[in-house]
Amino acid sequence: MVKKIYELPALPYGYEDLAPYISKEQLQIHHDKHHQAYVDGANAILQKFDSRPGLEFDVKAVAKELSFHVGGFLLHKLFWENMAPAPKGGGEPTGTLAQYINKDFGSFERFKQEFSQAANSTEGSGWAALTLCPVTDRLFIMQVEKHNINVIPNFKVLMVLDVWEHAYYLDYKNVRPSYVEAFWNIVNWEEVNRRIEIEILANSVNLVDNRRVLDMKLEEFKVNFDAWLESMK
Ligand code: MN
Repeated sequence: MVKKIYELPALPYGYEDLAPYISKEQLQIHHDKHHQAYVDGANAILQKFDSRPGLEFDVKAVAKELSFHVGGFLLHKLFWENMAPAPKGGGEPTGTLAQYINKDFGSFERFKQEFSQAANSTEGSGWAALTLCPVTDRLFIMQVEKHNINVIPNFKVLMVLDVWEHAYYLDYKNVRPSYVEAFWNIVNWEEVNRRIEIEILANSVNLVDNRRVLDMKLEEFKVNFDAWLESMK
């Protein structure tokens, strides 16, 4: 079988397209240098794995390093995709996502306030993340330290905001709250809504007949999803 490695994904927009909220210079260095560094870090570990046997390594240390680099790689990929140039980006969520936000936070304003608070109060380097609990079907805000600490396993990450200094320092210096406020103008709500709908669909299949999602064909997915939606009315 072919062995895959990590590759830096292209941005879904141009480097200058998120300005004035994120400048071209800031976005370019973030994507080309910082995201690339996690790709390289993760692949260096894969190279170690591919050099088995004969190569001895400290499994504990490697596992920790892997979690950091792969976490960094994945979160940045999610981050680029959950932003879009204004006016496509920004505004307020609609559809399923809006319903869930109202159910679990009371209002969009309250959600925005709590998410911003998570982003502003992250100690050192980390992320604010909106996630969905597959057990209770509730939205939770996760505050990820570095790229991998405080993560709850198996919670789908729906939206992230990078609050490492490398994400905003060129544009906002030390004033993180201004960057967090600017973020709301470029959130791609359509993408975040797509993520929650896919996750609900996957969870609904599990709920309906207790089988593994990956065993199901797409048609069966759709039938079950409709049945589940009907049952929620
Ligand atoms: Mn970053």
